[in-house]
Amino acid sequence: MPYFDHNATTPLAPIAREAWLRAQDEAWHNPSSPTRAAARVRIRLDAARERLAILLGGEPKRLVFNSGATEGVNAVFAYWAATLPPAARVGVNPTEHPCVLEAVRAHFGEARITWLAVTRDGVVVLEKLAALLAAGDVAAVAVMAANNETGVLQPWTQVAAFCRRVRAPFLCDATQWLGKLPGSGLGAAGWIVGSAHKFGGPKGAGFLQIAPDVDGFHAQLGGAQEHGHRGGTENYPGIAALLAALTEAETTKVLFETERLRGREGFEHAICAAVPGTRVVAAEAERLWNTVSLLLPHGENVRWVARLDKQDFQVSTGSACATGKAGPSPVLAALGLAPDEAKRVVRVSAGWDTTGAGWAALAAAFATAAPEVSPAANVVKS
Ligand code: PLP
Repeated sequence: MPYFDHNATTPLAPIAREAWLRAQDEAWHNPSSPTRAAARVRIRLDAARERLAILLGGEPKRLVFNSGATEGVNAVFAYWAATLPPAARVGVNPTEHPCVLEAVRAHFGEARITWLAVTRDGVVVLEKLAALLAAGDVAAVAVMAANNETGVLQPWTQVAAFCRRVRAPFLCDATQWLGKLPGSGLGAAGWIVGSAHKFGGPKGAGFLQIAPDVDGFHAQLGGAQEHGHRGGTENYPGIAALLAALTEAETTKVLFETERLRGREGFEHAICAAVPGTRVVAAEAERLWNTVSLLLPHGENVRWVARLDKQDFQVSTGSACATGKAGPSPVLAALGLAPDEAKRVVRVSAGWDTTGAGWAALAAAFATAAPEVSPAANVVKS
């Protein structure tokens, strides 16, 4: 079935499935137990942490395995709220994922958030951020690496450098970047979160990278697991599968990013010809090779999604996490789309196995669906 919703989640990569099953069979013991079998799991766990540190260019002792990005983000804001001065403000990119938007609001309140200026494509304006940091107007910053709805890439390397200069904590949500673009460099960026199921790993496994020189960080209290940063028995099979999927992506897949970009560009031309009046959201910005956000000329996105689903093409109305929430996507609002435009936006997100023929078939499926979701089709039905 043609699957174009990889930003919501990905199927388990065969190599990850193999690693998961092997770990369940051979390394299922509790790594904290005082036995030789447990010690062997501990060794594998340490090796996984070291391998992840190598992939990111970071330090093993700063990596905490957890259940995924949402957990990581919530723990980071809880820690910042407890340790930053009471009046300190956080500079936040307004196009972040709901887990960042909701968690920062819960921990800091609207009054202590400075929404960062973005271009009309949703890219953080570096000069304005630099000025806020230099003036001490924000004490910490959250800017994602790649946007889940539009695919827009943020200049996170520069943001990290600015923050380092003034010693401001920086949180970079790398959930959509990892496994699609090279992750090396993220290790030097500060606080990082990621989720395995976005890059061919299993659900419920992820990681948080802690910034250097952080004291007293506890994602959750309990045992002394994860160097004391997160109590709770480690999900070693999930961690093994996470590493298998990410290692495969980093060593064999991300090299083909430029080639894959051509598939996306071909689709963008095809869809604009097949459904005249279609616009690509943030078309001018640098974007992930797999993601296209389409503003369609007519018809609500839920109807497009249903019609495409009937043809066996799976796409999305936007952030899977926003599905069921009332109101337009904050990402599209930040890009200046009116609420009635936001309702016509469909997100398409390909995978590494998507071919040129697959992209072409999707454009044809949109053309088939177009008359069925047109205003005329509404009139006939009602
Ligand atoms: N951040 C981004 C950019 C995402 O796309 C997602 C998931 O869609 C998340 C965070 C949350 O990931 P999870 O649901 O695995 O915690």
